[in-house]
Amino acid sequence: MSLGIEISEKCSGHGRCYVLEPGLFEPDDEGYAVALRTAVTGEADCASARRAATACPEGAILLTEVG
Ligand code: SF4
Repeated sequence: MSLGIEISEKCSGHGRCYVLEPGLFEPDDEGYAVALRTAVTGEADCASARRAATACPEGAILLTEVG
């Protein structure tokens, strides 16, 4: 299983994603999220991506099932 990861322009820089999953997201200079990877593979990383997406209050983390 793989998930594509994208940050939409809805990101308001709350920071929950990169606090919760620093292996997948980091802040830019203004605190907005940057995805460290455009896709993840495997149960653990996909679960982390879903956890971050669920925690985002803006619904700004877009996950796309790949394969
Ligand atoms: S939790 Fe959502 S709004 Fe906050 S920084 Fe991450 S993507 Fe942006």
